[in-house]
Amino acid sequence: MTTHIDLALEQFARPTAVEVNLAHLTHNYNAIRTQIGDAKLMATIKANAYGHGLVQVAQHLENLGADYFCVALIEEGIELRKAGITTPILIFGGLTMAQIPLYLEYDLAITAPSLEKLAHINNVAKQMGTIAKVHLNIDTGMARIGIRWQNAHKLFALAQTCAHCRIDGVYSHFANADVAELSSANAQLENFKRALQFYPENNLKTPMRHIANSGGVLQMPDAYLDAVRPGIALFGIYPDATCIRSIALRPVMALRSHVVYFKVVEEGTPISYGHTWRASQRTRIVTLPVGYGDGYPRALSNKGEVLIHGKRYKIAGRVCMDQVMIDIGWTEAYNGDTVTLLGTDGDAQITIEDLSEWANTNPYEILTTFNTRIPRIYINSTTDD
Ligand SMILES: *Cc1c(COP(=O)(O)O)cnc(C)c1O
Repeated sequence: MTTHIDLALEQFARPTAVEVNLAHLTHNYNAIRTQIGDAKLMATIKANAYGHGLVQVAQHLENLGADYFCVALIEEGIELRKAGITTPILIFGGLTMAQIPLYLEYDLAITAPSLEKLAHINNVAKQMGTIAKVHLNIDTGMARIGIRWQNAHKLFALAQTCAHCRIDGVYSHFANADVAELSSANAQLENFKRALQFYPENNLKTPMRHIANSGGVLQMPDAYLDAVRPGIALFGIYPDATCIRSIALRPVMALRSHVVYFKVVEEGTPISYGHTWRASQRTRIVTLPVGYGDGYPRALSNKGEVLIHGKRYKIAGRVCMDQVMIDIGWTEAYNGDTVTLLGTDGDAQITIEDLSEWANTNPYEILTTFNTRIPRIYINSTTDD
C-alpha cells in the first residue's frame, strides 16, 4: 500500500508518522456546525489539538470559520497568537495570579473561577490600563474549578462592578454528558440555567452561555445554548462507547510506520525484554521503529495488533521504548513495507477504541499520548474512506 507517509520519507528521517487527515477534520467541523444550528462553535484544541498539531489544526479551523478556540494552558494560547491566529481564544485552566499580565498582552480570554481571582484580574487590567476579556466559570457538578452554582450570583454581581473586565461568556462543564445515563448531566444543565436567572432577574443582558462538550453536542440539544465547546468530536472520535452517535464522524488521525527489520525465528524463540513471548512454531517476525517513548502504549505488549497489507497481526513480546516486534506468521512482509498502527489499510481498520481497550484507557489518553517525537503529516484527501 502506498500512503502519504511515503512522500514524507524524504522529509523525515524516521519512517514513522502521525497522519492528520484535514479533509476529515473539515467533514467533522461541518457536520457539527449543521447539528448545532445558530450556536457558536468554540473549537477545543488543547493538548496539541488532541495530538493532531496545535497550530496546523487551528489554522485549518480558522480558515473554516471557527468562532473561538479553547485551550487549557496559557502557553497554548500564546503559541497560537505567535503563529498568527487572530480568532478569540479562551484558556480553560486554572490561572495563577502571576500569569494575568501575559493573558492581557496576548489578548487571551481568562477563565475567572472565583471572586478573588476576578477581583485580581480587574486590578491588574486597571494597572495596565486595559480591559480583560473574561469568561465566568460556574461549577454545576464537575467539581474541578469554578464557583459553585449556588453562589454564582456573587460572581455575577462582582463582575458587574469590574470596569476593567469585559464579560465575554459564562460557562460550566459536564462530568457525564457522554454516557447513556444523562440524569446527572441534565441536573447540571438545570443548575446552570438556575444560576443564570441572575441576569433576567436583574434586568441585565446575559453573557454568552456555554456548557456542551462533545458528549453534549452529540446527545443534548438542549445544552447548545449560545455556544458549544467540542473537542474530541472534531477529531472524529466519540467520547464514550455508550454515547449516541448522532453525527457521522470521521477519524482524523492515523499512525503509520514501516518495517525496518525482518527475520525468521525457530519454535521456542523468546522475543523482547523479559522474554514474555515465545514462538509457538517457526515464524516470521518484523520490527517497527516505534515504541512507548513515542507514546505507543507499553500496555499493548503481547496484546495489540497492527495492519500489514490489509491484515491484522499481533505484537510479539513487550513494546520497547523505540521499537516493537510483530509476528506475521507466514505472510510476506519485508523491509520498507507500510504498517498501520492506527487507521485503515484496505478493508481492515485499527480504531482508537481498539487501542484504548487494549491499553485499558480511553480514546482521549491514546490521542494525547502520541508525543511530538513522531512527526505529523497533513493530508487533505478522502481516498482512505
Ligand atoms: C476538554 C474540554 C472540553 C472538550 O471536551 P470533549 O469531550 O473533548 O469535547 C470542553 N470544555 C472544557 C472545559 C474542557 O476541559
